[in-house]
Amino acid sequence: EQDPRIQLIASSIRVVPDFPKKGIMFQDITTLLLDPKAFKDTVDLFVERYTGNGISVVAGVEARGFIFGPPIALAIGAKFIPLRKPRKLPGEVISENYVLEYGTDCLQMHVGAVQPGERALVVDDLVATGGTLCAAISLLERAGAEVVECACVIELPELKGREKLNGKPLYILMESH
Ligand code: AMP
Repeated sequence: EQDPRIQLIASSIRVVPDFPKKGIMFQDITTLLLDPKAFKDTVDLFVERYTGNGISVVAGVEARGFIFGPPIALAIGAKFIPLRKPRKLPGEVISENYVLEYGTDCLQMHVGAVQPGERALVVDDLVATGGTLCAAISLLERAGAEVVECACVIELPELKGREKLNGKPLYILMESH
């Protein structure tokens, strides 16, 4: 039932315990990128899902959404928008703050990057608490875009990030426990 490519992708991701701090099981997708077949299969699975859906915007979340987002955007004929940490984008921006385990973080998007009514896909490598994707959805919706779906390689289901997405669908290739 499951696509056979997903097993290869899953086995190419390195899990590093206690990084960047104790208790975190870090899902390291850099080892996936070392395997061209696994990297291509990952992009292809998303491209197969999103081709012909009228998506004109792929928004990637800094930093690992910048790895998976652009090849998906090119293949489906959409533009790519980087959603960045503060003080990286040189033009006029809108900002969304979001809560982390300790403190807060912020994502910014260039004003004018997306037009009202455009259909958008949000891409990141992993969803944990869902706070990052929630901020990304808010930025796009404030600009008038319609967020069709969020797409990640990995979900950590215990953290229930899916419930934080204001009903937006989340598509993942695999769960990690
Ligand atoms: P969250 O906002 O809690 O859903 O966290 C998602 C963001 O943090 C993504 O950009 C991930 O790249 C990163 N992240 C959170 N937890 C992990 C983890 N266990 N392994 C790798 N990246 C993580």
